[in-house]
Amino acid sequence: MSHKECIFCEIAKGAVPVKKVYEDEDLLAFWDIAPQAPSHFLIIPRKHIESINDLGDEESTIAGKMVIAAKRISAMSGIDRSGYRFVINCNKDAGQEVFHLHAHVLGGRKFNWPPG
Ligand code: 5GP
Ligand code: ZN
Repeated sequence: MSHKECIFCEIAKGAVPVKKVYEDEDLLAFWDIAPQAPSHFLIIPRKHIESINDLGDEESTIAGKMVIAAKRISAMSGIDRSGYRFVINCNKDAGQEVFHLHAHVLGGRKFNWPPG
């Protein structure tokens, strides 16, 4: 079910163009519009789920597929050996800005820990 005025639902429908890197029946992955690293991809479920907090127990397949997609995308972009971050921001303190679940895959540079 797509959500009115959700940019990632628009992207999932193909109504807003993105640089796709992966897609299947449940997920879509594409370049972030404002990359924070030499490689910066977003993995989204096609279904509108606002955040991790809104994932149902029956949606464990989608959640698991997001991690497997990160593995594939990192290998495709050649950052799997050097390393990458898989990040899901949830709600205000984490800085979530788009309330359609998405995982960031960032790589191609060194990251600090703990994150700021
Ligand atoms: P958040 O802070 O919610 O975890 O991250 C949202 C991310 O979505 C940001 O990194 C932002 O650059 C990205 N983003 C927002 N709107 C668009 C868009 O229309 N297209 C693409 N490709 N990325 C977007
Ligand atoms: Zn949405």
